[in-house]
Amino acid sequence: MHEIEPHKARRARLLAAMGAGVAIVPTAPERLRNRDTDYVYRFDSYFFYLTGFPEPEAVLVLVAGAEPRSILFCRENNPERELWDGRRYGVEAAREAFGIDEAHPVAALDERMPALLADQPTLFFAPGLDAAWDARVMGWLNQVRAQARAGVVAPSDIRDVRSILDEMRLVKDALEIATMRRAAAVTAGAHIRAMRAVRPDMVEYEIEAELLHEFRRHGAQFPAYWPIVASGPNACVLHYRANDRRMRDGDLLLIDAGCEIDGYAADVTRTFPVSGRFSGPQRDVYEMVLAAQAAAAAQVRPGAHWTAPHDAAVAVIAQGLVDLGLCAGTRDAVIESGDYKRFYMHRTGHWLGLDVHDAGDYKQAGDWRPLVAGMTLTVEPGCYIRPGEGVPERFWHIGVRIEDDALVTETGCELFSAAAPKRVADIEALMRDAR
Ligand code: MG
Ligand code: ZN
Repeated sequence: MHEIEPHKARRARLLAAMGAGVAIVPTAPERLRNRDTDYVYRFDSYFFYLTGFPEPEAVLVLVAGAEPRSILFCRENNPERELWDGRRYGVEAAREAFGIDEAHPVAALDERMPALLADQPTLFFAPGLDAAWDARVMGWLNQVRAQARAGVVAPSDIRDVRSILDEMRLVKDALEIATMRRAAAVTAGAHIRAMRAVRPDMVEYEIEAELLHEFRRHGAQFPAYWPIVASGPNACVLHYRANDRRMRDGDLLLIDAGCEIDGYAADVTRTFPVSGRFSGPQRDVYEMVLAAQAAAAAQVRPGAHWTAPHDAAVAVIAQGLVDLGLCAGTRDAVIESGDYKRFYMHRTGHWLGLDVHDAGDYKQAGDWRPLVAGMTLTVEPGCYIRPGEGVPERFWHIGVRIEDDALVTETGCELFSAAAPKRVADIEALMRDAR
């Protein structure tokens, strides 16, 4: 059974932040994949954050003020459609099951919205997100304006509801943290399964299948993004997605994969040798990235600025590249010139939550924002070495990324995905035992 109190509390916080006015938060539309077949449905993150309601064709309306209330518009029961497509809550059951004050059929939206908007000072909405919704909401506003001679006033102020919700979503509540722990635990299990399963001469998609199998059998509704199963040279392609190369003895395999459970994403990367044993150069690069990840994770704590983990990772990688002979000069010169970006060209993390690249600004008033307890982010340094001038051949095609999901705690951080091994000795032992 889903919990309703956390969503009630989130609605109450949004209503308080609004002060006065009306917010309109529709869920995502169903989308056609071909002819009469839809893509697998996934609700809108903002809508789900506020309701926990999973069905399409639903809209949440919040009325702030002296008597704040939440109104759900959703599908009515329909025995004919439910015979084909499955059960729907229906209006009254949805209201009760999700702890909403008032509910109506979604078919009544156009009829009811002008009255709800009349004489309200402010409309909170997400303009520009969906052209059809923009037009529909403007239509309602014009209907209210048309009643001006009857003394009805339309909202004169339109504000982006996302600016309030993004700040709220940045700091996770207890239910969100518990859900993200589950998603990361299942994901760690999938990475372990992949380490056990891989053999030379398998094709990358066979490992993709192992990941998806492990996600689904633990109740994950989807992968949070399509898994990257990148062997050999493909590990240096940051958003590789073909997953169709036959793996060879001596390759490294980089897997970036995470599941989504009850709306929340995990995003985890592990890199390991197809053979079960790192070669010398592979190990050198791997240990450098692992040390960079440890340095970055040590910076994930309350009060540290957003960029502190990245800066710590860059310092370790820049020194490592100098030590390996891949960059010339001193560490500080390599950082200053940005020469390390030939091998480490992305940043060290992103917010994580309902969206894999979650809501929330990284800067406040021009400065990197300080971390606070309850924020969740990834910590994911990497190193990608393509053949090139001055690059010793023994390093060619080595691509390594190590990515964990971190919660900022009162004293530091918790890595949700720590159960997936990442020390060289632990990976090699696990793979040896599986053979
Ligand atoms: Mg990732
Ligand atoms: Zn990531």
